[in-house]
Amino acid sequence: MPDLDGLPTAGELVERYLGPLAAHRALAPHIHFGHQVLGISRAGFDKVKTAGREHADFVLMVETSEGVKEIRAQAVVDASGTWGQPNPMGIHGFPALGEGAAQEHIAYGMPDILGAARGRYAGRSVMVVGAGHSAAGNLLALAALADDEPGTRVHWAVRGKDLRKVFGGGSADGLPARGALGTRLRDLVEQQRIILHLGFGVQAVELLADRMTVRAIDPTVAPVDGVDEIIVAAGSRPDLSLARELRTRLDPWIESTEALADLIDPNLHSCGTVRPHGHRELAHPEPGFYAIGAKSYGRAPNFLMATGYEQARSVVAAIAGDWVAANQVQLDLPQTGVCSVDIAEPSTVRASAAPSCCGGPAVQDTSTCCALDEAQKAQGSAGCGCTSAVPPATAKAASLQPVAPARAPCCG
Ligand SMILES: Cc1cc2nc3c(=O)[nH]c(=O)nc-3n(C[C@H](O)[C@H](O)[C@H](O)COP(=O)(O)OP(=O)(O)OC[C@H]3O[C@@H](n4cnc5c(N)ncnc54)[C@H](O)[C@@H]3O)c2cc1C
Repeated sequence: MPDLDGLPTAGELVERYLGPLAAHRALAPHIHFGHQVLGISRAGFDKVKTAGREHADFVLMVETSEGVKEIRAQAVVDASGTWGQPNPMGIHGFPALGEGAAQEHIAYGMPDILGAARGRYAGRSVMVVGAGHSAAGNLLALAALADDEPGTRVHWAVRGKDLRKVFGGGSADGLPARGALGTRLRDLVEQQRIILHLGFGVQAVELLADRMTVRAIDPTVAPVDGVDEIIVAAGSRPDLSLARELRTRLDPWIESTEALADLIDPNLHSCGTVRPHGHRELAHPEPGFYAIGAKSYGRAPNFLMATGYEQARSVVAAIAGDWVAANQVQLDLPQTGVCSVDIAEPSTVRASAAPSCCGGPAVQDTSTCCALDEAQKAQGSAGCGCTSAVPPATAKAASLQPVAPARAPCCG
């Protein structure tokens, strides 16, 4: 057993868990390294053809060192994540004007700032775009770099203005180490070691003689001049092209399955407020095909590995025909200290009567939501978390403080 209080880095997770797992004699013969899946279809069937399709094998088109091959399968579990498809930095969801031309000075995700990429950022003016945990990791690394390398300047562009979202739950976070990230960031901003630009939705990047000017879409927000490097940590999106020939049904904006979307919509859920779910919520109109893991959440950024393990267990049981095991899903996720319901802006909340914890009719099926929600609604209140007022963030100093949830959250 691992140390239950341990906090392994990604590298340690590979070394201590994924590596040994992949080397296990039960798994090793079945793993094909260097195989890039290009597409998934039904053998002998294009997307339109129906009669008999559910009996046909899947066929995967796979790029290998020996060229493109076809591999047959009776079921497909797509766990290809979203990390390889980073979101661009433009506020509109597509690249900012000039982003393509400035590619040489732009990195996506989490470059190895204190390691292999140190020379690229040392002594430079660096802007981080984004407000999630990847951005936080980049900023903390850059602040550490700035301690050792004079002249390193750190700018942080955040499109929103709500610092509770930016800094997270602090000491109230269900995962204390995650909360500590936000607390450390807040300290660095207060000490002005990180220059925070709020309301800075990036519209354009202008590259002039190796330095960039970054412009926000809001003309009242001052552009940032003299930027040497940009790190875009604005989330990632699933590669939907893999399943182009399969019959999938996705939520129009989350790009998860429809059944999952109401549970994970980041307009509503900041992190742990996702009920247990398994093969039923992950199923598509194409029997035998599932997307699990980070990809199952589509564009929602709030995925945790614990969710994925339970998804995998349920989906594999379903494929094996063990419906009792497949239907029994259990998951206990840690909450963030900032109640996701509290931070949702009214205009962003789904106008949906579908069962969910907040708004809408009381949910009768306890597997669909929590009992607390039902009890509260039965007593005439709005349901879990829905009636709690958020203290207005009037002063900057006040808004820098993480806000504790007004009541025990109900889901997760
Ligand atoms: C910065 C950061 C920090 C995080 N920290 C945590 C944390 O502390 N705790 C936590 O629970 N979660 C964390 N997460 C979320 C984390 O990403 C997921 O929990 C987990 O890695 C998802 O696993 P996955 O297997 O679904 O996807 P991934 O880990 O992304 O794995 C997908 C795999 O599929 C491969 N692949 C992609 N496309 C293809 C293809 N076409 N053919 C073949 N192979 C392909 C990829 O190479 C990759 O190996 C973090 C995420 C980020 C971005």
